[in-house]
Amino acid sequence: DDRNRTWNYDFVEFIKEEQIFATLMTPAGYGADDSSWNTFRNCEFNELLGFYGVCYWYTWQVSMLGLGPIWISKNEEVKQRTAKLLQDGAVFAFGLSEKEHGADLYSSDMSLTPVADGNYLANGQKYYIGNANEAGLVSTFGKNSSTNEFVFFVTESKHEKFNCIQNVVNSQSYVAEFTLNDYPITEADILSTGTEAWDSALNTVNICKFNLGLGAIGLCTHAFYEAINHAGNRRLFNHYVTDFPHIKQLLTDAYARLTAMKLFSYRASDYMRSASENDRRYLLYNPMVKMKVTTQGEEVVNILSDVIAAKGFEKNTYFDMATRDIRGLPKLEGTVHVNMALIVKFMANYFFFPDKFPEIGKVDGIENDEFLFKQGQTKGLSKIRFHDFNIAYNSVNLPNIEIFKSQINIFKEFFSSVDKLPAG
Ligand SMILES: Cc1cc2nc3c(=O)[nH]c(=O)nc-3n(C[C@H](O)[C@H](O)[C@H](O)COP(=O)(O)OP(=O)(O)OC[C@H]3O[C@@H](n4cnc5c(N)ncnc54)[C@H](O)[C@@H]3O)c2cc1C
Repeated sequence: DDRNRTWNYDFVEFIKEEQIFATLMTPAGYGADDSSWNTFRNCEFNELLGFYGVCYWYTWQVSMLGLGPIWISKNEEVKQRTAKLLQDGAVFAFGLSEKEHGADLYSSDMSLTPVADGNYLANGQKYYIGNANEAGLVSTFGKNSSTNEFVFFVTESKHEKFNCIQNVVNSQSYVAEFTLNDYPITEADILSTGTEAWDSALNTVNICKFNLGLGAIGLCTHAFYEAINHAGNRRLFNHYVTDFPHIKQLLTDAYARLTAMKLFSYRASDYMRSASENDRRYLLYNPMVKMKVTTQGEEVVNILSDVIAAKGFEKNTYFDMATRDIRGLPKLEGTVHVNMALIVKFMANYFFFPDKFPEIGKVDGIENDEFLFKQGQTKGLSKIRFHDFNIAYNSVNLPNIEIFKSQINIFKEFFSSVDKLPAG
């Protein structure tokens, strides 16, 4: 299927039979009794999908993105419709990006034009939209052409006025270009308008970009198994490949990075799950997972590539797909640099103005993560405070931590010498 670029219909059928998306992506109260939005549980599912193939992970990822503006919205009718569609096995899509505008969402050209009786006609093009070939609902972002206000509304990919033009990528995933040509929209299809629409776009990305790190962890885990399995069974010059000192070093390095990726991401999940209006620390840890964990994933695959060597190019390996697919993860949901720009906004408070917060333990229970759909306004990032990171580093006495602490101090010195601290 990977080589033939066949979309994962069999996977979607399995998801329906087992009610997986319905269970994992319906917040409590809208679906079956065991349905809830549980970031910890979703982390594990992300890993699992990344392990078996990024195309499966991508179908899940863009479904979650499509569901974000719906679950955030106040439109109860669409929410009930969505819960039913999830049970029927539908996938979803997030129609945010446009060909010419990339990260510049302010310039979105998709338009909703008011016509008689409070109805609208939607017109415009979207580009790079995953699942738009089959999505039950596509959360579509645009502007009201008469007020110039942002608006999020739902469309159906099988509607006659929804024109799915092409898959723009050479891959098993379907990343669509589509146009809406006088697509009729009623008030019942509108999810949010104005600032709420804008905030729900960013808040959805806040929830979902986290998945990229976990997808990378799953991918790297599989690549690691394949590399060590190959090297551990291969004898050269009367040695197992795993006996060569540099191979030991490479595998240790890859393993340490992969472990750090997991530790950081699962700890960030605790903060996602404990977030509230008064504790928005997740807004820093989340882009770190997206940006740093995925780029470390690239590094892990790079390192392992020197271990598995020629075998990793063979057509029947997972590794062949991993080397190609890992590169996509840092690019989705805001590029590395867009996330760095976001992280910079938190640095002054993080390093210089710590605040007191209650200790947050491991959050791996069955709670429904309600706050994620009530994140509210997206502004005020530079006012977010953090606990003192020294609490963690001072709690252990290890040589590497001591080196790290001295590096932090040098970094802080450098930072203090900058004329103006970055502000949000
Ligand atoms: C495989 C794939 C699947 C996708 N799926 C979806 C989807 O389902 N739905 C959807 O809506 N979108 C989707 N996208 C689009 C994705 O979110 C965009 O790639 C992303 O928004 C960035 O746009 P761009 O890649 O065109 O880069 P551009 O925005 O054109 O950026 C170009 C360069 O400029 C830099 N840059 C841009 N703005 C800034 C800034 N403010 N500060 C610093 N640097 C900046 C970037 O870091 C980058 O290096 C997908 C993309 C891909 C590749």
